Amino acid sequence: MMQRKPNILLIYTGGTIGMVKDYDTGSLKAFDFDELLKHIPELAQLDCDIDSVSFKKPIDSSNMNIKYWIEIASIIETNYKAYDGFVVLHGSDTMSYSASALSFMLENLAKPVIFTGSQLPIGDLRTDAKENLITSIQIASLQEKGKPVIKEVGLYFEYKLYRGNRTIKVNAEHFEAFSSPNYPEIAESGVHLKVNSSFLLASKAGKKKFKVHKNMSDQVGTLKLFPGISELVLNAVLATEDLKVLVLETYGAGNAPTDKWFIDKLKNAITKGLHIINVTQCTGGSVTMGHYETSELLQRMQLVNGKDITFEAAITKAMYLIGSGVSDKLFKTIFETSLRGEMQ
Ligand code: ASP
Repeated sequence: MMQRKPNILLIYTGGTIGMVKDYDTGSLKAFDFDELLKHIPELAQLDCDIDSVSFKKPIDSSNMNIKYWIEIASIIETNYKAYDGFVVLHGSDTMSYSASALSFMLENLAKPVIFTGSQLPIGDLRTDAKENLITSIQIASLQEKGKPVIKEVGLYFEYKLYRGNRTIKVNAEHFEAFSSPNYPEIAESGVHLKVNSSFLLASKAGKKKFKVHKNMSDQVGTLKLFPGISELVLNAVLATEDLKVLVLETYGAGNAPTDKWFIDKLKNAITKGLHIINVTQCTGGSVTMGHYETSELLQRMQLVNGKDITFEAAITKAMYLIGSGVSDKLFKTIFETSLRGEMQ
């Protein structure tokens, strides 16, 4: 029996990748995505079938929000059975947030969802868009015995495929714009496309049904510590109406000032039901509460341990857990458990 070619759905949300230069005015404008083949004729040579859908009004990813994440999740849900893989074209600025959010929203994923974008528009002579797009499609088409090889949300940029919820954007200039400091790349594009099988997320999809979660709560906030932070700033953040989760960006291995006013205010907020998550400001490494005196107090007052999670994954995981109605009693335990390979 002839095996059919894998089919891939491209979801264009916006960002630099889908733009072309208007040579009359010199400005960048979104191009009609139906004309994709015209700009990248190489796509016709790929061993897969490609369809595309586009946001009605493509956005700069700085305008990304919960509503758009639900739109991406819904497109994947509607087309889940009909396609073997999905490639989401997205601006690079908030791509790590979206890849993290979608990793939580898509439970028991058994197919690849690959986020990609570019630093230069597709119509630019020196563009990085072609390589990023073509290889993302190839990665989404990878199959073994008729089943997708990648069964998670990935982010592909500049020859590397990362686990999406492990990434951060690190550079606004270089083509190598992303990094995954706490988890190795899951595939690499060189002369050959090399998948690091041992780092792939073990999918539960064989046993469990694919489920799309569309309730993401916006009752989350953040506070980044800095030496000299005032009581007024802390008061203002803690007084935020309806705040359920605060991601506290601490120093080093999860350390914070030991001033009495600081500790008392956090303690008081926790007693009133606020979940405070300890996430380090360092790009690599992990929170280890109790290692220093400056984190022992935080541990004693039951701060949630963010371990080696990225800020992007911490915020979106909190949105997902609160949106899913996880009880106050269980929040800490569930947050500290890796759900989609986002933490150790
Ligand atoms: N500002 C753009 C965006 O994130 C940058 C990019 O596409 O890379 O939408």
